Amino acid sequence: MDAGGQDWRAGGFGVYVHWPFCLAKCPYCDFNSHVAREVDHDRWRAALVAEMEAVRDLTGPRPAGSMFFGGGTPSLMPAGDRRAR
Ligand code: SF4
Repeated sequence: MDAGGQDWRAGGFGVYVHWPFCLAKCPYCDFNSHVAREVDHDRWRAALVAEMEAVRDLTGPRPAGSMFFGGGTPSLMPAGDRRAR
């Protein structure tokens, strides 16, 4: 409980998904972004799901109020990779 009497652990939270790929690396870019000739989408999606399940196992099930996508260039991510399970 915080000083206001609210239990922050019972509240929702946001999930950040980092898509680290770009078509080109901008010279000024300091982000964790990479140019890949090909992306193994099945492998990437499996890793994302495994990571989310691992965090869920650590924290317990909690409602996610929002999901953020960053990168990289997340607009390059295939629509199927953003689908909820
Ligand atoms: S993350 Fe943005 S700024 Fe960085 S290389 Fe990709 S497109 Fe350029």
